[in-house]
Amino acid sequence: MQILDGKQTSETIKQEILAEVEQLMANGGKRPHLAAIIVGHDGASETYVANKVKACRDCGFDSTLLQFEDSISEAELLNEVKKCNRNEEIDGIIVQLPLPHHINEHKIIEAIDYKKDVDGFHPENVGRLYIGMPCYISATPKGILELLTRYHISTKGKKCVVLGRSNIVGKPTAALMMQKDMGDATVTILHSHSQNLKEECLQADILVTAIGQPHFVTADMIKDGVVILDIGITRVADSTRSKGYRLLGDVDFDNVAPKCSYITPVPGGVGPMTVSMLMLNTLAAAKHTYYPKE
Ligand code: NDP
Repeated sequence: MQILDGKQTSETIKQEILAEVEQLMANGGKRPHLAAIIVGHDGASETYVANKVKACRDCGFDSTLLQFEDSISEAELLNEVKKCNRNEEIDGIIVQLPLPHHINEHKIIEAIDYKKDVDGFHPENVGRLYIGMPCYISATPKGILELLTRYHISTKGKKCVVLGRSNIVGKPTAALMMQKDMGDATVTILHSHSQNLKEECLQADILVTAIGQPHFVTADMIKDGVVILDIGITRVADSTRSKGYRLLGDVDFDNVAPKCSYITPVPGGVGPMTVSMLMLNTLAAAKHTYYPKE
């Protein structure tokens, strides 16, 4: 069994990005600039956004953090997004999810200029991913494929089972894994209404779990030699830790890992890859890689 070290791989990628930014600057270019919008004070969301802002610094990017109170109205938030759209200094925009219930997430995401939608959540980018056109691929699926590629693990023709069908993880992961000349895998998506879940998981050469249920995947649900990418991150109270909690993945790691050929840990697996892929998308935005400058 080998650990897929997302933390180390992500550090390497950020160094590669920094080198490219320095080259861009030397050639008279501008620093990539990410705007991150967060609403409210949820601890996990604040941590995720702080990690993204720190990654911007690591990569030599500019960043703008816009934090609003829970009481912000949908109309006011839409206006803030539109201001970022119009701001020519800003290359990429992300809105940290989830948003408070009185704000329609779909409306906010659709309001982001899809050419600055470095999370790849806008319907334009989602649609382009499905039909194989250039686009921002959302960071978690992109991070999964990048991690597999850097460890020389082929997905072509493999049976890939994706546990979870959310718009931000499960569905785009399935889309990327099946996409021609990308994942090229045979993909099954499972969710809370799926029948024979264990039997389906036992078929997997590659198992991607994104359900947010700690230790859901047990050793009897996987075949020997499987590759597992555990996306799940759940905070579980733990008074022995200084933060008062620890992070658990969807996989019962201690019992499952010995049966795997490769597995990601939680933390230190796909989480850091998600952040470095967001940086790659922001660099692509600054370079107009997917959408030419008008
Ligand atoms: P959602 O809650 O949006 O989706 C969860 C999915 O899991 C749903 O499709 C749901 O099915 C399915 N599901 C839940 N319980 C079961 C079950 N018992 N059996 C089968 N399917 C089930 O979560 P997200 O996709 O946003 O996040 C999933 C996890 O990934 C979370 O722990 C989150 O924190 C983490 N995450 C990690 C990231 C990273 O960078 N590593 C990035 C984003 C998320 P149904 O559709 O039927 O309800």
